[in-house]
Amino acid sequence: MPDSKYSPLPPWQRTDYCGALRARDEGRAVAVLGWVAARRDHGRLIFIDLRDREGIVQLVFNPEYAAAHDVAEKARSEYFIAVRGKVLRRSEGTVNAELPTGEIEVAVSECEILNTSPVPPFPIAEGEVAAEELRLKNRYLDLRRPEMLRNMRRRHRALKAVRDYLDENGFIEVETPILWKSTPEGARDYLVPSRVNPGRFYALPQSPQLLKQLLMVSGFDRYYQIARCFRDEDLRANRQPEFTQIDLEMTCPRPEDVMSVAEGMIAAAYQATLGIDIRPPFPRLAYAEAMERFGSDKPDMRFGMELRNLTEAFAGTAFKVFAEVLARGESIYAIAVPAEHQLSRRELDEMAESLRSRHGLGLAWAKTAQEGWQGPVAKHIGESEKARAAQAMALKAGDTLLMVAGDANKIRPVLGDLRLALGQKFGLCDAEGRSFLWVVDFPLFEYSAEEKRLVSVNHPFTAPHPDDLERLESEPLRVRSLAYDMVLNGQELGGGSIRIHSRELQLKVMDLLGLTREEALDRFGFLLDALTYGAPPHGGCAFGVDRLAMVLCGTDSIRDVIAFPKTQKAVDLMSGAPSEVSPRQLKELGIKVTS
Ligand code: ASP
Repeated sequence: MPDSKYSPLPPWQRTDYCGALRARDEGRAVAVLGWVAARRDHGRLIFIDLRDREGIVQLVFNPEYAAAHDVAEKARSEYFIAVRGKVLRRSEGTVNAELPTGEIEVAVSECEILNTSPVPPFPIAEGEVAAEELRLKNRYLDLRRPEMLRNMRRRHRALKAVRDYLDENGFIEVETPILWKSTPEGARDYLVPSRVNPGRFYALPQSPQLLKQLLMVSGFDRYYQIARCFRDEDLRANRQPEFTQIDLEMTCPRPEDVMSVAEGMIAAAYQATLGIDIRPPFPRLAYAEAMERFGSDKPDMRFGMELRNLTEAFAGTAFKVFAEVLARGESIYAIAVPAEHQLSRRELDEMAESLRSRHGLGLAWAKTAQEGWQGPVAKHIGESEKARAAQAMALKAGDTLLMVAGDANKIRPVLGDLRLALGQKFGLCDAEGRSFLWVVDFPLFEYSAEEKRLVSVNHPFTAPHPDDLERLESEPLRVRSLAYDMVLNGQELGGGSIRIHSRELQLKVMDLLGLTREEALDRFGFLLDALTYGAPPHGGCAFGVDRLAMVLCGTDSIRDVIAFPKTQKAVDLMSGAPSEVSPRQLKELGIKVTS
């Protein structure tokens, strides 16, 4: 038998995918190609489960076809084989209800091994998950696993639906450069040296922000791109140095116009992948209210346990700890854990200890009961304060009150995190629940104590809220922006803003951010110039494809929805990137490695 392993051409063309065959195909002559998922040698009969991207079909080799039977004897796991045969209905009792192809099998008349395989480093089967390092090192095999294929196909479906939706809504896809100039979105840039311009560097885009704005100046009216973005950050869980965004921009939109396009796009992705009907419009919550009620700008609204401001309730308290805080003009916030969820004394002590060590904050807790409050601080708090707090929190007997005192901007996020942790602990975050919302009216600036200057909450191109324009110079920290974020179950799916389209205003904002006129012109001269040429008002948004795919695939690891992801250390375990380069390459680029 000639060794077909060396022929680059298949002996015959596939007629069907393995996983696509059904009872309706009974009697058909078919040709299938795939990987050996399992082989059972019953002496006379040999069974092979053959796998391709659509699934598994059972092959049966009968000694009557001696040549094919001989080949089947040699086949091993993950060999790639081609067979021809006939689809037969399985006899009663051998039907496999677990398998979509379980009613039939292919009786093989011809078989060729097109390539062999060593024993793979981990089993390639549904539900078998090997150690992640091993999976990433052998990613091409990991991607052969049905779950990974399913994830990648779902991602494809979602993006296809998004593209179709945007196309139907008049958006034009434009590719923008990867080798470009740094446009700050708050992270470090990846730099690429230019050989022909020694000493100069391109930056990989953190996002196509300025380019899409320029496309609006050019008159594209509606742009989108499935854009690769690069940010050189210390990687946290579920962050990758390169990631994909659905990036879009529109001319003359109101925030609600951008939000409505984004909602439609997300709804299309849900419909195409999961057949789930999402019903926009999503509720909107002002940033200030989100912080006040949930201690977070991306609140998980699947459960209650909202924060309450108890500052008033404790006015004039004799409880020293609270009194000192109030004297400083600071606040007291609390959450109430409902009676049906009890925390043990030890759990409360641990919680208090963690707040102390991580944030330098004290936790004052009290269990409310018919007979009154219990717990270490109960005796220090007066009855009228208790009554006011109970009323403000709508306390019921048996609820546990968790109180934190200090600067509102510091304690609300801490309580917000505590709320989330408790929501998870008590199973209040319904995994099937979908709580979409928009957070709007973000502040334009925040003060960075580290940099001792104002920094943009969103990015420097975000427009101030027109109602707050007059405060821009006098009280910049009280200016809201026209930014909006879409949040799902406590995670940001995407966001954007209406942009500044006036050169003067853009220069003013850059000035407030501490950029000198020279720096602004040097770094953003092309944008500032473009704005002078009849730049129309514009705005847009960007959505993280990886995050969206995670949600649609029901996985909590970003690496499960990216074909070739990097590790937390930004390394590709399979290829070894980033790797050293030859001295010649470095010399050509005029680069010296010093460490
Ligand atoms: N460029 C922003 C980002 O990447 C999104 C936007 O404002 O459209 O997050």
